Amino acid sequence: MSEIHTAIPFSSRRTSRFEARTYRAFTAKHLDEIPELERLPPALREEMRVVSSVLPFRVNRYVIEELVDWRRAPDDPLFRLVFPQREMLAPEHFDEVAAALESESSERIAATVAKVRSELNPHPAGQLQSNVPRIGGRRVEGLQHKYPETVLFFPSQGQVCHSYCTFCFRWAQFIGDPDLRIASRETAALTEYLAAHPEVTDVLVTGGDPLVMRTKALRAHLEPLLAIESIRTIRIGTKSLTFWPHRFVTDPDAEDLLALFRAIVASGKHLAVMAHYNHPRELAPAIAREAIARVRATGAQIRAQGPLLAHINDSEETWARLWQAQVELGIVPYYMFVERDTGARRYFEVPLVDAYRIYRGAMKRVSGLARTARGPSMSCHPGKIEIQGVTEVGGEKVFVLRFIQGRNPDWVQRPFFARFDAQATWLDQLRPAFGEPRFFFERDPLN
Ligand SMILES: *Cc1c(COP(=O)(O)O)cnc(C)c1O
Repeated sequence: MSEIHTAIPFSSRRTSRFEARTYRAFTAKHLDEIPELERLPPALREEMRVVSSVLPFRVNRYVIEELVDWRRAPDDPLFRLVFPQREMLAPEHFDEVAAALESESSERIAATVAKVRSELNPHPAGQLQSNVPRIGGRRVEGLQHKYPETVLFFPSQGQVCHSYCTFCFRWAQFIGDPDLRIASRETAALTEYLAAHPEVTDVLVTGGDPLVMRTKALRAHLEPLLAIESIRTIRIGTKSLTFWPHRFVTDPDAEDLLALFRAIVASGKHLAVMAHYNHPRELAPAIAREAIARVRATGAQIRAQGPLLAHINDSEETWARLWQAQVELGIVPYYMFVERDTGARRYFEVPLVDAYRIYRGAMKRVSGLARTARGPSMSCHPGKIEIQGVTEVGGEKVFVLRFIQGRNPDWVQRPFFARFDAQATWLDQLRPAFGEPRFFFERDPLN
């Protein structure tokens, strides 16, 4: 497994360097069909079976062969990124599910799994209720509109990924429960909504991963947006550059996808590929770099975001290498997120004070060009809240916070203070500083 090199060789642009590959996914049903897992103690596979009956699991051959370092599994960060581990469930949840599986009663298994899932905060930040837009009083399913300038669009064919991340905050999208799923079957509702909302400049197509869709389907969703003058930017949220770079290089409709990107750019709108990266190793394979080069050659801009995760990337050095490699490949570092309060958060969460220390330490190691990543940022109900620092005001140790995005745009960029708490991992554990009863935004009816 090659580590990332800072100097990137010029890639020759001949497709023939890269062999086409047939996509094949393994899910919880196929744990016995992954030969690499046989190298691990059998107990680990049993534990994976338990955890993957609660949290979604899906991986493909490219991830298994090119990203995971099997000599270091199960401690390898890329192994932990995709393969379930026992500690991702609370001990009592793990035992309940294990006992249900042992009973072999399908009713008991279904009931236990449903109960445990419901206790994992499947839809954080109230997203099933709070941000659903309406046309004439009718809910428009598959859209979210939280910040005035940006609408999220969840096309129904894009609600899977080429592989699932074990920490995914959208995990409830993938468990087959339509009540917990955000998905749109129609583009017409989107264009109708946008026509009525000229304040919206950005559409963020997301999922899941919209690039799981064939180009033809994606084009049907995106082309109508080109005619809407108020839309200036189309963003596509994706992990395909990491989990299936063949999508841009050797898949049968790879060229067609790049042609669609060029057409969007030619229309005068900005095309932003919001790429999800968690570890510098994801940027190492030649085909991953080729995919990046091809996307950039269309005129699209790739921006990178991802959460800070215990056991995967919780070090200054890892983030510095990640951001530096991104800059060298022409990707703009965009956000460092705090792991959200859902799913396997207990395994991945990092105290806010450590998140800030790692962010700052990584920033110190890179030049200004790699310091474009904002964070650490919590995406929570009131907005995106950044930890700006730890300091002392009038003898009280405090966190300095600010809104990057706010449910009320007037909150944006306003500094505020929370009492310092070395254990806190999320906003709901913070209290206002200086003995104030509430944070300023909690007094606002828009909260
Ligand atoms: C993050 C986010 C956006 C986009 O915010 P930017 O700061 O413009 O990247 C839009 N809608 C929701 C719900 C979000 O969480």
